[in-house]
Amino acid sequence: MEVKTAESLPEASTGRSVNAFEVMAKYGHEQLVQCYDESTGLKAVIGIHSTVLGPAMGGTRMWNYVSDEEGVIDALRLSRGMTYKAAISGLNIGGGKAVLIGDAKKIKSEAYLRRFGKFIESLNGKYVTAGDVNITTHDLEYIRMETSHVTGLPETLGGGGSSSLITAFGVYMGIKAAAKQAFGSDHLEHKKVAVQGVGAVGMKLVEYLSKENAEVFVSDVEEDRLQIASRAYGAHVVSTEHILAIEADIYAPCALGATLNDLTIPQLKCRVIAGGANNQLAQEDRHGQMLMDRGIVYAPDFLVNAGGIMAVAAEYFGDFNKNHLYQKAERIYDNCMQVLKEASGKKKNTQLVAIEMAEKRIVAISQLHRTL
Ligand code: NAD
Repeated sequence: MEVKTAESLPEASTGRSVNAFEVMAKYGHEQLVQCYDESTGLKAVIGIHSTVLGPAMGGTRMWNYVSDEEGVIDALRLSRGMTYKAAISGLNIGGGKAVLIGDAKKIKSEAYLRRFGKFIESLNGKYVTAGDVNITTHDLEYIRMETSHVTGLPETLGGGGSSSLITAFGVYMGIKAAAKQAFGSDHLEHKKVAVQGVGAVGMKLVEYLSKENAEVFVSDVEEDRLQIASRAYGAHVVSTEHILAIEADIYAPCALGATLNDLTIPQLKCRVIAGGANNQLAQEDRHGQMLMDRGIVYAPDFLVNAGGIMAVAAEYFGDFNKNHLYQKAERIYDNCMQVLKEASGKKKNTQLVAIEMAEKRIVAISQLHRTL
């Protein structure tokens, strides 16, 4: 695979027509698989960005896209992100992602999911799936009836259970590393931390932060989640509109992607950004640079939220050991430190430096394979 330099993938939502082959050529994707089944209404797209390091792994997302083209672009964009996440984390897996186009509430059924499982099986392990938006562990049970190339299963089915706990621990490590870079110390006591989204990852992160006596501010669209964060961990509740602009030292996005954009970056008062959400930068070049220009230390999302992929990869290879996984996730601190220092030395944006590091490992390992 020829590795391409980083730029943001074009967003289908811009309304302009995007040619999938052009995107694949630009970003070095290996394969794009489109699956269709009339009887169940299945329209699936599997983006395989790279299998240089191992099978392309990444969850299945179901979404009612505005157009099929938008689903194709999402599969390509997300699969590329998975390649970098795995590579920088030292995992021997590649990057893939599947997208199911349609309204999950209306068309998801046993037959639909099993048909999708059959398509995955036809790839002979080149792509390994897991859960993602609108694909539950119950859905994975159906997919697994037709293919063994599924991971992220519940403990009752021999899987490792929810990966969000290990993800949160990794994010906590990333926050500490970024704090060290920005403030000279990784102690978070009395640091003001704004956590956007207190779901599975965000809530566990709040627990880690409160144990260290950080002052935690939270926002969420679900009132009950806010109440838990406030009652159990003494977090201050902030409205969803204001969380980004509060006088916090650290902002931890743990809900949505693209929260760092032209509109929000000028409002930020924090010195550090590190969180669990995927694709936090709306455009990685432009917004990574904007953060750097404002003196904000940005811990690349795919580096700090890699705990989950570490867990599901271990499960797939039959190597799931909780202690070992936490040790691995602890290394996110050192990895993050390395990226932040290198970026600061080279005066480059941290996201691009992290991508370069991931690409370097892919190239080195592919050369190694060639010489053996
Ligand atoms: P989740 O669905 O459990 O939590 C997301 C939370 O964000 C929910 O409580 C939701 O109500 C809240 N939310 C939605 N819109 C919001 C808004 N506008 N403002 C504030 N809060 C809002 O998901 P999760 O598993 O905690 O994952 C959080 C993020 O981390 C996602 O972006 C996910 O893709 C990413 N991530 C998760 C894992 C994992 O292992 N779970 C791994 C890597 C990345």
